[in-house]
Amino acid sequence: LELLRTHSLAETARHIATTDQLTGLPNRSAVLERIGKAIAECTAEGRVGALLYIDLDHFKTINDHYGHSGGDAALQHAASIMRETVTPEMILGRIGGEEFVCFAPDSAAAAAAAMAIIVTLRATSVDHHGSDIAVTASIGVAVMGDAITPEALLANADRALYLAKSSGRDRIVHHEDIRIVEDAVLRGQFTRK
Ligand code: GH3
Ligand code: MG
Ligand code: MG
Repeated sequence: LELLRTHSLAETARHIATTDQLTGLPNRSAVLERIGKAIAECTAEGRVGALLYIDLDHFKTINDHYGHSGGDAALQHAASIMRETVTPEMILGRIGGEEFVCFAPDSAAAAAAAMAIIVTLRATSVDHHGSDIAVTASIGVAVMGDAITPEALLANADRALYLAKSSGRDRIVHHEDIRIVEDAVLRGQFTRK
């Protein structure tokens, strides 16, 4: 409510309704609405955007080891790394407990951001009452193609995220690579965990 000092009541109410309190990022409904608009702009301009679905690894274990406040510190640390990594034309938000999304109007820039987030999380940790809390992330990537709504992109990115988790975490999987893996499983080249 510090905001009321500089903003109108309506602006303050809108900020509270669209912002996640812990990280200061746009919340689920706000970020999905912005992504819907960005997808429409990409379509109009003939650009190919991409969505990252970012889920922190073994977050239950972090809460178990360091308590809920340690988990909150790890969430804030991860969010600030993501905020520092993305460019102004990207849209970043927290869509759930330890889940974030980032939309970039350029699929190559999205892939680069995913890599930068993974590598920076690996290389850093957050101090919480004298303990170093390390956190890694798994990321599913879905590129605009058949999927041109936030929900459809999210569903594709979620399938890729599932494979990133099941194949070991702390990694990126692109949705278009799933078919390659599934074909190889059918041929008996891989067995899925
Ligand atoms: P995985 O690597 O498969 O993603 O495992 P995980 O433990 O991260 O996944 P799971 O979805 O089982 O657990 C997520 C946990 O995140 C459960 C919940 O208690 C915790 N969590 C969700 N929101 C918050 C929050 O705001 N603060 C804290 N400290 N923990 C949270
Ligand atoms: Mg999760
Ligand atoms: Mg998780």
